[in-house]
Amino acid sequence: VCGSDSFAETIRRERLPVLQNRVYGSRAEARSSPCAPFQLATCLICGFSFNRAFDGWLMVYDEHYDNDVPSNTFRTYYEIVADMLIRRLELTSGVVYDIGCGKGDFLRTLCRLAPNVVGIGIDPSCSPIESGNFALRKETFQAETFAHDTRLVILRHVLEHIDQPVAFAAMIAEQLGDAPLYVEVPDLDWILENGAFWDFCYEHCNYFTPHSLAFALRRAGFLVEAQGPGFGGQYQWAICRRSAEDAFPSMSDARRQAELVAAYRAHEGELIAYARRLLAESGNAVIWGMATKGVIFSTLLDCREIAGGVDINPKKQGRFVPGSGLQVHPPEWLATLTVDPTVLVMNGNYAEEIREEVRRVRASARVVVL
Ligand SMILES: [Zn+2]
Repeated sequence: VCGSDSFAETIRRERLPVLQNRVYGSRAEARSSPCAPFQLATCLICGFSFNRAFDGWLMVYDEHYDNDVPSNTFRTYYEIVADMLIRRLELTSGVVYDIGCGKGDFLRTLCRLAPNVVGIGIDPSCSPIESGNFALRKETFQAETFAHDTRLVILRHVLEHIDQPVAFAAMIAEQLGDAPLYVEVPDLDWILENGAFWDFCYEHCNYFTPHSLAFALRRAGFLVEAQGPGFGGQYQWAICRRSAEDAFPSMSDARRQAELVAAYRAHEGELIAYARRLLAESGNAVIWGMATKGVIFSTLLDCREIAGGVDINPKKQGRFVPGSGLQVHPPEWLATLTVDPTVLVMNGNYAEEIREEVRRVRASARVVVL
């Protein structure tokens, strides 16, 4: 982000699945899907953390990519964010762009809550559609020319996937005029504080803290107007506008950030050992949620101890995840197991929703939130 080559290396994985949000037709195909090494580095000048071993050429975001989470918890979260944007930015007309919108669920929510706004989503993995005030374009964002009445550009969970985040955000800044940009990314500080070792993945080449996100946006030509946590602190957001102001990193924050990552690294082995013991003791463990967290968790641990994965996304059910090759099942599958399973949950935000589903399909199963 700052252009320095002075950094501290910490968290290392020999091999991670290159894409964790796609599934395969057979276990063999899933297990032989592309994997690559991960090496977290933290810049000692600006405090930004990133995967030094990242190779952007390995990434293919096409129609096989599916990060859909059809959960009520997530739907509620979308409504809270959309409502916050509509009120704060007074979105009553004009065009809202969502770059890297995935299947477009967030933009669809915003367009429903702001019916006089036109929403245009851009993503190479979407199915193109035009319906009412909502449209999806199946393309990669290049040098898009925004409409003259652009009121907002959304960049949700995109910047952590892009190996040149400043150049990418600067490309948007150059064309954006005075309209605001909303950015949402995971928060590295939350991962470190919560020991969420399954949150280091290959798709995410960047790991922002609130400080390094604001700095990266300033380097790209934006000034942050508002910033805050989201989704129980796992995510963070920033609203920014174009500015001519220059940004300079502060050394003290960078050193402190590198120390925080190193302190986490020093006890990560204990966290993984605890998860291993839990798997061995529970006998019949299953993982609920086969998106990033479940896929990385099953890759890092011995998946012979795991009976399978559960996911409510019907397109993942019956198929196999990259890395571990675990099969994904619908919730009802729990009822067919001969031994009562222990259901492992990596994301506490979904705990209540999952407990309710487990009670419905297999009341005698144990639910453990890691
Ligand atoms: Zn730096």
